[in-house]
Amino acid sequence: SDHHLTYPITPAHMDWSSFYPAFVTTPEEVQANPQSGIDIEFGRVRQLKKDVEVADIGCGFGGLLVALAPVLPDTLLLGMEIRTQVTEYVQERIKALRAQNPDTGLYQNIGCLRANAMKFLPNFFKKQQLSKIFFCFPDPHFKARKHKARIVSTTLNSEYAYVLRPGGIVYTITDVEDLHNWMVGHFDAHPSFERVQEDEQDADECVKIMRVETEEGKKVERNNGQKFVALFRRLEDPPW
Ligand code: SAM
Repeated sequence: SDHHLTYPITPAHMDWSSFYPAFVTTPEEVQANPQSGIDIEFGRVRQLKKDVEVADIGCGFGGLLVALAPVLPDTLLLGMEIRTQVTEYVQERIKALRAQNPDTGLYQNIGCLRANAMKFLPNFFKKQQLSKIFFCFPDPHFKARKHKARIVSTTLNSEYAYVLRPGGIVYTITDVEDLHNWMVGHFDAHPSFERVQEDEQDADECVKIMRVETEEGKKVERNNGQKFVALFRRLEDPPW
C-alpha cells in the first residue's frame, strides 16, 4: 500500500541533498545565486548542481544503476522502487560502493528512492527533466484483469512523455513476450513516441548494459530465457 509513501508537493519541494551529497551546491554558490533553493515550512530545500536525468523504474536490487554509474559519471541517476526493504538494500549498496571508492567520486551519481512510480512521477520530476527512463523486467501481471496494474499504459505513457525531454529515450526489456508486445503496442500508439530502429538500438551502450546487468536479466540468462528489447524516442510536441 502507499500509506507510508511520502512525496513532494512539487518537484521544487524535493530535497535531493541526502541522495547525492557530492552534488549539493556549496554555500558560496547559493550566495551567488540566491534564487536556488526555495523556502518551505521546515527550511530551505538544498539544491543540487544538476537535476536527476535518468530514472530506473522498479529498479529492484540496483544492478542497472551500479553498472551505469561509471558509464554516465556526470549524470544523476535515480532508481525508484516500491518495496521498502529492497530500497533500503540498494541505498546500503550505494553507501558501501561510495565508501570503497573514496578518491574517485564513483557512485556519487546514483540514488534510490522508495516510491510508487505509477502515482507520483510528476511530483518528483518537472516537465522534460529526464533524458532516459528504464523499465527493466517490469512485473508482467499476466492475467487480463491485472493488466491495469502494468507500468506501461496509455495514461502512464502520457506521464512518461511529460517528464521526458524531446529526444529522450524510454528503454524497455522483458522476458515475457506478451508484455513486450503490450509495451510496444502502447508506446507505438502514443503520439509522443516513436520506436527506435534496431540498428540504433543495438548500438546503444545502455542497451548492452541493460541486457546483462540487472538482477532479473541475470536470472533470465541463467535459465536461457529470451530477452525482448524495445526503445522509444520522445518526439517534439507538434506546434499549436
Ligand atoms: N528492474 C529490476 C531488474 O531488472 O532486476 C527489477 C525487476 S522486478 C521483476 C520488478 C520491480 O519493480 C520489483 O522490484 C517491484 O517491487 C518494482 N515495482 C513494481 N511496481 C512498482 C511501482 N509502481 N513503483 C516502483 N517500483 C515498482
